[in-house]
Amino acid sequence: MCKHILNVQASIRAPCCKQWFDCAECHGEVSDHPLRKTTEMVFGCKKCKKVFRKDMDHFEEEDEYCPHCDNKYIVEAKTPQMAIAVEGHDERMGERFEKDMRLKEDTLKTVFDMDADISHRMG
Ligand SMILES: [Zn+2]
Ligand SMILES: [Zn+2]
Ligand SMILES: [Zn+2]
Repeated sequence: MCKHILNVQASIRAPCCKQWFDCAECHGEVSDHPLRKTTEMVFGCKKCKKVFRKDMDHFEEEDEYCPHCDNKYIVEAKTPQMAIAVEGHDERMGERFEKDMRLKEDTLKTVFDMDADISHRMG
């Protein structure tokens, strides 16, 4: 698990610097070079801790599972940002969603104003 992908199931070994990372962004944060793209990725399963290789050019559905323990390691990434964005997913809801957001902003402002009053009185 890393701060970018909350549900990461396998580490990847960067082909450029041979280091293990939970995701490409983790590599980017500590490296002074871009992650080298390769067709043969080396994964380390988080569940059974075993290492395996996958040919990304011929990736099939069964390749989404760890060959050692059948753990599905190719998962839809849960990121902190995505968790928030999910609410506005339906396009038909777009207009209503915007109104809701405005309402929420107003409510938020009121709450902050109240807080300010209280702290003023207390201070
Ligand atoms: Zn690297
Ligand atoms: Zn990461
Ligand atoms: Zn495994």
